Amino acid sequence: MESTQRRPVLRYDDGGWAEAIGGHLALDLVNTVSWRLDPARTVDRLPDGAALARWAAFVGVELRSAVTDETAAGVRRLRERVYRVVQPLAVGAEPAAADLASLRRLLLGVVGRAEVTAVMPLELAVVSLPDELALAAWRLLEREDARRLRQCGASDCGWLFLDRTKNRSRVWCSSADCGNRTRARRHYARRTAEQR
Ligand SMILES: [Zn+2]
Repeated sequence: MESTQRRPVLRYDDGGWAEAIGGHLALDLVNTVSWRLDPARTVDRLPDGAALARWAAFVGVELRSAVTDETAAGVRRLRERVYRVVQPLAVGAEPAAADLASLRRLLLGVVGRAEVTAVMPLELAVVSLPDELALAAWRLLEREDARRLRQCGASDCGWLFLDRTKNRSRVWCSSADCGNRTRARRHYARRTAEQR
């Protein structure tokens, strides 16, 4: 019997699906955009409050206040600011100064409203879901190793993750999906080239 553990999957009405593959809540948030690198197919999975509430339940974030369409707009704003800083790091580049400044302003605002619930180690608590997710982004930037940040190897996917493998060998968001798809496409391209 196979011992591979299946991760839970969130399925969408259009046949698409999501797995929490980021290895960090802030990256799973960034990955709520599907096919980010293929503009013809890009889908935003957090279009409204209901979708956001469903996603939050999927990733295990407890809701302490109402989730409205406005909440979703706030989360999307945060998500894109995090993406613009983290994606360059994942491909070995530097984020733009303006993008860093805009994320910094957002995060410091959230920390300014947070309650201190414990010290050494410092623990902060916030009420709203956007603030909770912003604290997750803060922790990602504060505590994780940028050298483990990766962008999925498929040319259209764009999902980001922390490579927690010992030899830092993870290439795909999911080898069953992007890995197989890309290998099949390369195989097909090779075969058609050979036939010419
Ligand atoms: Zn992928």
